[in-house]
Amino acid sequence: MNDLRFNVAQLLRDVVGAARRVEVAANLYELAPELSGDDRSRVLRGAVRMLNTNAGILVQGRLTGTATLACARCLEPVTTPLEVEIEELFRPTIDLLTGRAIVPEEEDRALWIDEHHILDLTEVVRQDALLAAPLNAVCSEACRGLCPTCGQNLNEGPCDCKPEPDPRWGPLTALLDDRDNDRADDQNV
Ligand SMILES: [Zn+2]
Ligand SMILES: [Zn+2]
Repeated sequence: MNDLRFNVAQLLRDVVGAARRVEVAANLYELAPELSGDDRSRVLRGAVRMLNTNAGILVQGRLTGTATLACARCLEPVTTPLEVEIEELFRPTIDLLTGRAIVPEEEDRALWIDEHHILDLTEVVRQDALLAAPLNAVCSEACRGLCPTCGQNLNEGPCDCKPEPDPRWGPLTALLDDRDNDRADDQNV
């Protein structure tokens, strides 16, 4: 179970500029299963610094691990390094001295510190991990991808589909097809 919730009451009571370093380990499968393949034990690890500022708690840090994505060409799983940068300002929703509720200017409730002074990194880490994942991961630069007609993985060998004829050569190809397929191919190149 991920527990990315931290009680920051002490830090909020401290002077502006006070900071705390927190180790973070986030199970990627629970957080963003689309990045973890079938591996339920994959963990993003790192540390964040929590800084008391006038406006709230600034959280900065970096978590690293690996992600498994589908190859953009052949859809086979590809494992790539994942570096998740975090930099967010979390706002208090209660005044520590008076106990009064504050409505933060920040609209995103994922960035609100709750009334028990719990700062929850879960949603921020999840979103930053998704943003950090490469959009066009490929299993290899030489990946041949899938045949658009039959879906065969062309890295495993050619399929039986004929290549699409170039429409510019259509009439000529039709003419030559009657005679000799191989020769027509030679002339079209
Ligand atoms: Zn591939
Ligand atoms: Zn095919």
